[in-house]
Amino acid sequence: MAGGTDLVVEVNQRFARAEVLLDLSALPELQTLQWGPDYVEIGAGVSLSELERWLAGRIPLLSEWFPLFASRLIRNRATLGGNLGTASPIGDGPPVLLALEAEAVLVSAAGERVVPLERFFTGYRQTALSPGEVIRAVRIPLPLAPQARFYKVSKRRLDDISTVAAAFALRLEAGVVQHIRIGLGGVAATPVRAYQTEAFLQGKPWDERTVRAAAEVIRGEFRPIDDHRGSAAYRTAMLGNLLQKFHAETAEVAV
Ligand SMILES: Cc1cc2nc3c(=O)[nH]c(=O)nc-3n(C[C@H](O)[C@H](O)[C@H](O)COP(=O)(O)OP(=O)(O)OC[C@H]3O[C@@H](n4cnc5c(N)ncnc54)[C@H](O)[C@@H]3O)c2cc1C
Repeated sequence: MAGGTDLVVEVNQRFARAEVLLDLSALPELQTLQWGPDYVEIGAGVSLSELERWLAGRIPLLSEWFPLFASRLIRNRATLGGNLGTASPIGDGPPVLLALEAEAVLVSAAGERVVPLERFFTGYRQTALSPGEVIRAVRIPLPLAPQARFYKVSKRRLDDISTVAAAFALRLEAGVVQHIRIGLGGVAATPVRAYQTEAFLQGKPWDERTVRAAAEVIRGEFRPIDDHRGSAAYRTAMLGNLLQKFHAETAEVAV
């Protein structure tokens, strides 16, 4: 247990009782922030409020995400390690971290290994963590893509769970897509990257025509479910709309 903002909900509302609970919150190894030449390494146990303060806007995609995550009270406790550990398909951290091509640094008595986040989520609420392993840190490679946005579609604008969450990271060269990464939540059993859409956009001009066609690709790439937060049709429509919104907000850099 780290901040307990998922785990204690299970205890209170679903009467989950663990035989043994280990509190990771006092481990200094999990309370780190290191800015190296090739990546930023964020300790898995740093609270989101603290992380926001430490980063001071240096990772703009995270800056967009923080205010949309729960409330200040929850952000004072919640951690990246817990957000990944809980592996919710509608968690907001995974789409953002997938778009940033983050890696999870996992540690156990046997040593350390690094798992790209795209391989970390192995099924509905399942992860690549082995028994006895914890997430020590999250690594975000540098340099960051210059254009990035996070969009959260939810019933309430603030302090709500996502119906669909989408994060985009883009690098253009002379108006052509040189690099695009799209991380999504709420459209599959796990958080996902939109590989087909990324491949479709790669090397194409970042213009309205391309993005309209890419919106069709992304709508066809996933089969979301119907639930009380939104129908499958609504979620599918949102995928294309959010891509077009991202284009509308970044198009001027392509001119
Ligand atoms: C009111 C409310 C609003 C919320 N809003 C949002 C929201 O807007 N967006 C969102 O994404 N989530 C939201 N959440 C869910 C929750 O706050 C996040 O998932 C949070 O990041 C969990 O972090 P934590 O440190 O509290 O995890 P904990 O509850 O301590 O742990 C969660 C799970 O992760 C495991 N875990 C924790 N740390 C590690 C580690 N270092 N290594 C391996 N496993 C670990 C635990 O064993 C447990 O299974 C909300 C929760 C509440 C109660």
